[in-house]
Amino acid sequence: MVNEDSVAVVGGSIAGCATAQAVARAGAGRVTVFERAGGELRDRGVGIGLHDARFAELEAAGYVDSSMPWSGLSRRVWTIRDGAAELGRAFADQHFPFRSYNWGSLWHELRSRVPESVTYHTGAAVTAVEQDADGVALRLADGRRERFAAVIGADGYRSVVREAMFPGLAPDYAGYLGWRGTSAPMPGDPETDRAEARVIVFPGGHCMMYLIPAAGGGYRMNWVLYAVPPDDPELLLDLRTPTSLPPGRVAAKLTAYLRDLVAEHFPPYWGRCVLRTAPEDSFIQPIYDLQVPRLAVGRLLLAGDAATVVRPHTGGGSVKALQDATALEAACRANGSWPEIAGAYDAERTAVGAAMVALGRRLGRAQVEQTPDWQKMGQPEFDLWWQEQNQGPDRSSGFGGHALKRG
Ligand SMILES: Cc1cc2nc3c(=O)[nH]c(=O)nc-3n(C[C@H](O)[C@H](O)[C@H](O)COP(=O)(O)OP(=O)(O)OC[C@H]3O[C@@H](n4cnc5c(N)ncnc54)[C@H](O)[C@@H]3O)c2cc1C
Repeated sequence: MVNEDSVAVVGGSIAGCATAQAVARAGAGRVTVFERAGGELRDRGVGIGLHDARFAELEAAGYVDSSMPWSGLSRRVWTIRDGAAELGRAFADQHFPFRSYNWGSLWHELRSRVPESVTYHTGAAVTAVEQDADGVALRLADGRRERFAAVIGADGYRSVVREAMFPGLAPDYAGYLGWRGTSAPMPGDPETDRAEARVIVFPGGHCMMYLIPAAGGGYRMNWVLYAVPPDDPELLLDLRTPTSLPPGRVAAKLTAYLRDLVAEHFPPYWGRCVLRTAPEDSFIQPIYDLQVPRLAVGRLLLAGDAATVVRPHTGGGSVKALQDATALEAACRANGSWPEIAGAYDAERTAVGAAMVALGRRLGRAQVEQTPDWQKMGQPEFDLWWQEQNQGPDRSSGFGGHALKRG
């Protein structure tokens, strides 16, 4: 590590907290995090699933902790509407060794692990990144300009650090949306197994559902529905420029469309879990993906979604962000200059990011863009269909994240 060097991390979410911890642990002199949002990020998200084996590796590396509230999942049950049957008809079952988390508690844990020596600024948006031979200058929205020996871009899918490295390179819209939310259980709900995740299927998409620990105790039903938006002139959104959908007429019209879709295609109980979600507990996210040619250019390095945006069907975006941090720590410990650190980090992580992007595209194609005739599917047909999309040309999977290399 280049001891005593000052390092800035742009973005203070999952990748930002983890990479700040990584460079501080590896011996950076001064570490500063710039997070655009004011206050705590804990209420921003909903559920996150972390693969058991990936969690164990990250715990051994000191990045996560078993004491964080979680709920264990072991099976994923694929289910289709069957007339008035409350729970529908389960047509396939798969091994699903994941831990479910509330996004807020995961972030809180990572934030609490950022050493006190790190300065974490909130309400601090970085507007420009200028690299020269000796360092990097960051411009902030309040007019300040600060210099660092190196800068880590952990600023998500619309990264300004990535824009400085690869001008014009932006995420690709996948052609469909994710509608996400959480709802509280109600008295009289049927008994369901907490260890079972559900996938409710319908023509042109599916909805992933599982319980997550609630902030104040108990559980909430976390759901994410993926579907192509309707062919309506008012909804012909230009999503080529990465965006999120703010509340308003378009979001309201889309939500009405999605609610109708749920009412028509979901088994009654699972439909109620979605439809009783309060509007403020749900939001619509267009789905994107992005692969960068390199994760490091000179003294600029990327981590998490700033580096590669992976479609959420992989269940591995957060794992990838945390693994980026462990690889960065190892690269910093083993090398003495920023070009060497950048080279080692890039060699370790670029291929993994590309493999995850490719997996996300295969899963998205099979599960949303070109859904099969679900009615004709039983366990044997499902197993074949899953095998085709899950295994890449090299027969590796990566579902839930690739195994971390042992250092
Ligand atoms: C529908 C959906 C479901 C998902 N489910 C899962 C799952 O089950 N399991 C899983 O592992 N992953 C899942 N993911 C992926 C996971 O959420 C992301 O990969 C992960 O949150 C990326 O974290 P990050 O820190 O890189 O980016 P982000 O969480 O996007 O954080 C970027 C941060 O940078 C800040 N920022 C941005 N620009 C600036 C700026 N100019 N200056 C200062 N700060 C800035 C932002 O405010 C933000 O806090 C899912 C994603 C989606 C969309």
